[in-house]
Amino acid sequence: KQQWQEIQKQKKQRKEEDILVGERGGFQGFDQWDFKELPIVQHKQEILYCVENYSCVVVIAETGSGKTTKIPQYLVEAGYAINGKKIGVSQPRRIAAISIANRVAQEMGCIIGQEVGYSVRFDDNCDEELTQIKYMTDGMLINQILNDPLLSEYSVLMIDDIHERSINTDILLGLLKKIRRKNPQLKLVISSATIDAESISTFFQERVTDPKTNQVIANLTSQILYIEGRQFPVDIYYLKETTRNYVVKAVQVTLEIIRAPDKKGDILIFLTGQEEIEAFIEIIQKNFIGDAERQNLKILPLYSGLPLEDQMEVFKPSESYVRKIIVSTNIAESSITISGVVYVIDTLFHKINYYDFKRGFENLLVVPISKAAAKQRAGRAGRVQRGECYRLCTKDQFVQLYDNSTPEILRCDLSTFILQLKTLGVGDVTNFELLQQPNENAYAKALEQLFALKVIDKYCNLTQEIGHKICDFNLETKLGVLLLNSFKDDFGCSQQMLVLCSMLSLQGQVFYNGFDPATILKQKKKLGAKEGDHITLINIFLAFNHLKSSQARQGFCSDHKLNIKSLNMAVKIHDQLCKQVKRMGLKVNNSEDDIEGILRALVTAFFMNVAQLQPDGSYRNLRNKEILYLHPTSILNINFPQWVIYSEVVFSTKYYMREVSEVDPKWLLELASHYFEDQRLKQAEQKHGKEIIAQNEYEKNKQKIEEEKQKDPVMG
Ligand code: ADP
Ligand code: MG
Repeated sequence: KQQWQEIQKQKKQRKEEDILVGERGGFQGFDQWDFKELPIVQHKQEILYCVENYSCVVVIAETGSGKTTKIPQYLVEAGYAINGKKIGVSQPRRIAAISIANRVAQEMGCIIGQEVGYSVRFDDNCDEELTQIKYMTDGMLINQILNDPLLSEYSVLMIDDIHERSINTDILLGLLKKIRRKNPQLKLVISSATIDAESISTFFQERVTDPKTNQVIANLTSQILYIEGRQFPVDIYYLKETTRNYVVKAVQVTLEIIRAPDKKGDILIFLTGQEEIEAFIEIIQKNFIGDAERQNLKILPLYSGLPLEDQMEVFKPSESYVRKIIVSTNIAESSITISGVVYVIDTLFHKINYYDFKRGFENLLVVPISKAAAKQRAGRAGRVQRGECYRLCTKDQFVQLYDNSTPEILRCDLSTFILQLKTLGVGDVTNFELLQQPNENAYAKALEQLFALKVIDKYCNLTQEIGHKICDFNLETKLGVLLLNSFKDDFGCSQQMLVLCSMLSLQGQVFYNGFDPATILKQKKKLGAKEGDHITLINIFLAFNHLKSSQARQGFCSDHKLNIKSLNMAVKIHDQLCKQVKRMGLKVNNSEDDIEGILRALVTAFFMNVAQLQPDGSYRNLRNKEILYLHPTSILNINFPQWVIYSEVVFSTKYYMREVSEVDPKWLLELASHYFEDQRLKQAEQKHGKEIIAQNEYEKNKQKIEEEKQKDPVMG
């Protein structure tokens, strides 16, 4: 054992020194079925030995080495899926869970949904009795903890791709730490493609003692397993000069590869989001020469807002003469394998959620990726043969990238996280054990917000009337509150709100991105309502949904410069929300044409986002005094009302309120009196009063929270 551990140490060192151009090796050609050479295969015994002898195994291996597809199969072979127990594998993404389950079912020669199944939101094909391996999104696994708090259904749980450090992964790790104290038999396999494994391993190492007798009940051990070997080397290229527009540059490089006579194989391009992907596709299509180029290429967009059927297109085999160009966000970075990729074009950017603590809103920012992520992306080119990766930056710029990115939990609004933990019965969220703790201020802000929205009470418990209910919508917190409130007789506009919440949940833009703001504004005026952008969004949806044929919808969208993909998506979200509302037994009401009802309902969720017109045409947020501007596409640019309410802020050169509606300031006192007391409104200059109150409230209740912690109902 000692010897073996020594070997592990050496391997780790070698891995740290690893450079991208490795040795040639692995399986030849494009045969997907030849798996003899997958790096994992040689480590089968080692993996099984570790799972047998340690309670947690951290497997570090390159993307594509066979972690996700092979390890669960080995565990089945070794008898971990008997006596009604299953092997569970959590994935950061829906598309990964589904495509990999299909793949593994194929490899094992069984029908999907029997021995191998998947479970994602709105789609679960697992069989209670038959299923041995269950692939699922980490969100689904968290949901499952609600019904099966100790996860006793599983013998081994594999938490996959944790290097992505999505907030759900972090929550899951924290929950598992609690669960294993009560269920020490549950084995864990944690997989990651990057080498920072010590902190994870230490996190799961502990002696569990009986609080009364102080006796050790379980010794939870942990071992790191380094697996080396990459299939093919990847040559990396950098730009000689910086580029000002990476989308255009990416098109150029793609065309060069296509037109080079000696370059064969599929191309994978990394961009940051739907808008860029669509822009890329538009530009490249304009630049194709002749029909040959057009016919022999298949351009496939891939981003999470895309309907799942369209996402799955990338896995479909095509004619051998057809070359695939996959234009993707970081979905294709590590969780899924698209066979046939030989060229990677990496813009080195991604879009992340970033919570602006000072201004109190979440922002989508396009920022450079980390070196670790760039390495992942480049690795995608070496799957089937020697590959090439074109990094669209200079070498000097590349050196300046961070080694690793900041995990989501340290940079996001914690209110959803808190809500999720509360639903799971975790009493004191601020002491919930995580790999990395967000700072106190982040907790305080989120608690303050939830308190103001009446989602939690002053003892930090979920409220019956709102907190317990909105979790079921699966919407962002404020939208959940908005939707729920709209069912009250007072507002009576839940039918319209179902539409609005669907539209506001979209990741992409409603209007097509290729147009300047003035053109969009012109279209908006045709479809819009003077009361603001929210009503306009409802109008657009209703007009679109009213058309039944896809041809008519297409026509409507191109006439008004609307993005048909976004609208189709909104229709889907709307269907799902309607079903959910029905399941919850809520009765949809519709006070037609009562625009005031809708606007008043908006106040109940977005009262923190109220701003007043300033003499220079800017707006000033009532709460934190920040200066904001109407987005150039906002329909309110026509009349600049005195008071407005907004649901989103975007930053480009200034802070712009994007979806904005007019409000009557009287409503603020009427509907959010707990937030805007009368005198406060008069002394609008006074410094963020309510924040301080909420903070005090929170301090006062610390004692209460401590007590709560003791009786934490689910996991203690
Ligand atoms: P890891 O989890 O280590 O990144 P995987 O287990 O996902 O690796 O993939 C191992 C290999 O299986 C890949 O290199 C690829 O060749 C093949 N593979 C995985 N999924 C698919 C798929 N959907 N279609 C074709 N080949 C696949
Ligand atoms: Mg994987």
